Amino acid sequence: MKLAAIVSQPKHASYDVIIVGGAMIGSSIAWFLSENKDFNGRILVVEKDPTYEWCSTAHTNSCIRQQFSTEINIQISQYGVEFLKGFKSMLGDDPEVPDIQLHSFGYMYLAGTQDFATILRDNQKLQARLGAGTTIMTPDEIAQAYPFYNLEGIVLGSHNPVDEGYFDGNTMFDWWRRKARQNGVEYLTNEVVAIERIENRIESVKLKSGEKISTGTIVNASGTRASITAGMAGLEVPVEPRRRYTFIFDAQTPLNGTLPLTIDPSGVHMRTDGQYYMCGCPPDEDESVDHDDFYCDHSIWEEKIWPAIATRVPAFEAVKVINSWVGHYAYNTLDQNAIIGPHSEVKNFIFANGFSGHGFQQSPAMGRGVSEFITYGEFRELDLSALGYDRIAQNKPFLEKAVI
Ligand SMILES: Cc1cc2nc3c(=O)[nH]c(=O)nc-3n(C[C@H](O)[C@H](O)[C@H](O)COP(=O)(O)OP(=O)(O)OC[C@H]3O[C@@H](n4cnc5c(N)ncnc54)[C@H](O)[C@@H]3O)c2cc1C
Repeated sequence: MKLAAIVSQPKHASYDVIIVGGAMIGSSIAWFLSENKDFNGRILVVEKDPTYEWCSTAHTNSCIRQQFSTEINIQISQYGVEFLKGFKSMLGDDPEVPDIQLHSFGYMYLAGTQDFATILRDNQKLQARLGAGTTIMTPDEIAQAYPFYNLEGIVLGSHNPVDEGYFDGNTMFDWWRRKARQNGVEYLTNEVVAIERIENRIESVKLKSGEKISTGTIVNASGTRASITAGMAGLEVPVEPRRRYTFIFDAQTPLNGTLPLTIDPSGVHMRTDGQYYMCGCPPDEDESVDHDDFYCDHSIWEEKIWPAIATRVPAFEAVKVINSWVGHYAYNTLDQNAIIGPHSEVKNFIFANGFSGHGFQQSPAMGRGVSEFITYGEFRELDLSALGYDRIAQNKPFLEKAVI
């Protein structure tokens, strides 16, 4: 599709906030900001691909978990659950707004070593202190609850069946866009190709169609292209596209019960997906790829994924792949965590980037946090500053031990 055929022009020459990228994160920010009674500015979202065909949002597995190792990531997901459960009322009790489905099958982290078992035990203590329903299960307990696993070599499991599993994030995305528009947010089909910065202030953006638009604040919500967008302003952010595989398969003999989102020691994950099953993993050589490179190396199924799932769940010896895709993580190479908030010096350049594998579940907290920051100059409901840009500038990773 040629941009010239679908391009749309801005209504104004100047906006208070321009958001680059209108997918999950950009639309969350647009909606939260447009809902904030203390923000009265004009918001423009520039999205180069209104079909959203290639963005991370279109390839997600849309799961949410509280099994993280850092307090802030747990709290971010807990707000995600609160938001999605109260979605209708959050969106003004509009009778047309649907409830958001949440299938709480829980994640099941399986430890194959004592070291990882210790990490899971420590994580569970923190999660439980913050109110999560995580429990540590011995192999016997796992076998009793989920008799389909082969637990040879497993030291323990960490499982949380409360408010953890699949949620219908795409419906949330859809309604954020609709409601943001109803609130006056302008969505433009166009591409930001240049950013004018004078000393430590962003002044304007240039669109592919040629217009220059002034802005009070710019938000980088451009997913895997985050570093290209930052680069237009002479800034850096350590985010690159990395391939992630997803396979949907049917089992000749379906399991007698729900398969939790199981994180196998091999690095392969699998779970129930309606009447089917879903699984995936990173490639063995996990490297940056071209933004347009969605090549699916099918040998990964034969050589890595199938052996791993059939070892862990013997019933998966006889399965048939019915769908597969490759999506890109916007991979933060420093610490795989979100980068949220202003640049350390260029204060009106706001990052909302680097979500790696957890941007869907974090989108409510990120939208709320960025809208607070733009409106009040600070995070209010939840202090997200540990995930701020300063750690990037100082090359100090904010380590999260539970990364998928
Ligand atoms: C296989 C896979 C599984 C995942 N599973 C989960 C999961 O289970 N749970 C979870 O929480 N997260 C998951 N994620 C991560 C989650 O999907 C992402 O973090 C999230 O979708 C990122 O949204 P985004 O809006 O930041 O980026 P994107 O969805 O990539 O959107 C960025 C947008 O910016 C636009 N854009 C870029 N540059 C410009 C420009 N210059 N001008 C205009 N527009 C521009 C692009 O067209 C695109 O639409 C998964 C991701 C993948 C790939």
